[in-house]
Amino acid sequence: MIIIDNYIGGSFHKPESGQYLDNVNPAVGEVFARTASSSSKDLEEAVRAATAAFDEWSRKTLAQRSKILHKLADLIDENLEDLARAESQDNGKPVALARRVDIPRAAANFRFFASAIINESSEAHVMEGEAVNYTRRAPLGVVGCISPWNLPLYLFTWKIAPALAAGNCVIAKPSEVTPYTAFLLCQLANEAGFPPGVLNVLHGRGAEIGQLLVDHPEVKAISFTGGTQTGRIIGQAAARQFKKVSLELGGKNPVVIFDDCHFEEAVRTTIESSFTNQGEICLCGSRIFIQEGIYERFKAAFVDRVRALKVGDPSKEVDMGALVSREHMEKVDTYVAGARTEGGKILTGGKRITLMNGFYYEPTVIEGLDEFCQINQEEVFGPVVTLIPFTDESDVVKKANSTPYGLAAVIWTENLKRAHAVAHQIKSGIIWINCWMLRDLRTPFGGMKSSGVGREGGSEALRFFTEPQNICVKL
Ligand code: NAD
Repeated sequence: MIIIDNYIGGSFHKPESGQYLDNVNPAVGEVFARTASSSSKDLEEAVRAATAAFDEWSRKTLAQRSKILHKLADLIDENLEDLARAESQDNGKPVALARRVDIPRAAANFRFFASAIINESSEAHVMEGEAVNYTRRAPLGVVGCISPWNLPLYLFTWKIAPALAAGNCVIAKPSEVTPYTAFLLCQLANEAGFPPGVLNVLHGRGAEIGQLLVDHPEVKAISFTGGTQTGRIIGQAAARQFKKVSLELGGKNPVVIFDDCHFEEAVRTTIESSFTNQGEICLCGSRIFIQEGIYERFKAAFVDRVRALKVGDPSKEVDMGALVSREHMEKVDTYVAGARTEGGKILTGGKRITLMNGFYYEPTVIEGLDEFCQINQEEVFGPVVTLIPFTDESDVVKKANSTPYGLAAVIWTENLKRAHAVAHQIKSGIIWINCWMLRDLRTPFGGMKSSGVGREGGSEALRFFTEPQNICVKL
C-alpha cells in the first residue's frame, strides 16, 4: 500500500491526526494508496516552514530561481514514465494520454515560468524631467494553490510554477481524489534543490484542510481551480480578508459548426474535444451546435466515429479509460437519465460499462433537447455531448451564450470574417477557431461569467502572484 504523506519544510510528515483517506484506482475500483487527512496543526507547521523560507527564496536572483525550476522540469522529463503510470492509476486516464500530455505539460509549466521571469519586462514612467517612476513587483509571501482531480499534475504545476518563480513560498493542496503525482513531485523538488519550506504540500479533504488554507491569515493569496460551487465558497471566504484570489471554474462549452467548415477536420477534432480524458477537461466542448444544412451529415459521421472509440483498461492502448470515481460515474449517469426524461434521444452510449470493477462509461451523444434543458445548462464533466441544430450566426450566438458559464468555445468555419464576428460575440474567455486545446502558455487563460475570476498564464500569472509597488524618484 502506498502511503501519501504531507510534505512540509523539505521532508515528509505524517498527519497530526494520524488519519488517512482511501485512494482508489478507478480502473479496477480498488484502494491502492492511503492519503494523509490533514488538520489545522499540519497547516500551522506548513505556514511556519513556508514563512521561514520566504526571505531566502525571495532574495534569490531570478537566474538562481530559474535554474532550480529548470532542474525540476528536467527531473520530470527523466521520470516521465513513472509519473504517467501514477497519474493513470490515480485518475483512470489512459497512460498514453498522461505520457503525451499531462506529464510533458507539467515539465513545460516549470520551464515556461523559469524563462518567463527572466524575460518579463518591467514598467517605467518618466515625468518630463521631474521624476521617474518604476514598478517593482514583489512576491506576496506564502500563497495557497488548490487544484482539481482531472489533470492532476498538469494543473497543480500550472499554479505552483508561477507562484514559485515569482519568489513566493507555496502551500499546495492537490485534490484528495488524485494526490499521487503531487506527492511524487515533492521527492523531485528536493533533488532539484528547492530550499526546505519553499514548497509544501498538504493532503486531505477540500472542505477541511482546503478551507483552513483559504482562511489562514498568513496565506496571502489563493489560486484555485475546481468547481463553480467551491469557487463561490472560496471567493466569499477570501473576500472577508481582502485576500487575492484567482478562480478557474467550470464550463459548459459550445462547439459551433458552420456548414462551410472543413468537414473532416471538424468531425475529427470534435471527437477529441468531446471525449479526450473521458470528457473530464474543463475545456471539453459539451454542446455541439451544428448548422441545419449539414446537421444530418455531421451527426452520422460523428456518431459513427464515437461508436468506434475504444473504452477500457487505461494501461492499454485505448481512447478512453475510467471515470475518476464511482460517485462521479453515478453523477454522469444521473445526468443522462435526466436527459432521457426531458425527451432527449440517445444516439449512442448512455450507460455504464461493466469492466474490471472499474468506473467506465460509454461515450454518449444525445439529440433532441433545446439549449435550456438541464443537460445543456449544467456541467456534466464526463463523456456526454448533445447535438443542437442552428440556423444562422445570431441564432447560434444566442444559444451558445445561454448558460451561466463562459470558459471556452470552438468555432468551425472556413470564413474567417464570420469566425471573428462570432468569436467577438460569444462570452467565453478562450475561443478556438478551427482547432481545440492549442495552447500558447503566454496567453491569458480563464473564464468569464460563472467560469472564473482572473486569468492564469504568462504575465497574468506572474502579476497575480506579485504585488506592484510604484517607486517614484525625483530627478
Ligand atoms: P472541486 O471544486 O470539488 O475541488 C477542487 C479542489 O478544491 C480540490 O482540491 C478540493 O479538495 C478543494 N476544495 C473543495 N472544497 C473546498 C473548500 N471549501 N475550500 C478549499 N478547497 C476546497 O472540483 P473537482 O471536482 O476536483 O474538479 C472538477 C471541477 O473543476 C469541474 O467543475 C471543472 O470544470 C473544474 N475545472 C476547471 C478548470 C479551469 O481551468 N477553469 C480546470 C480543470 C477543472
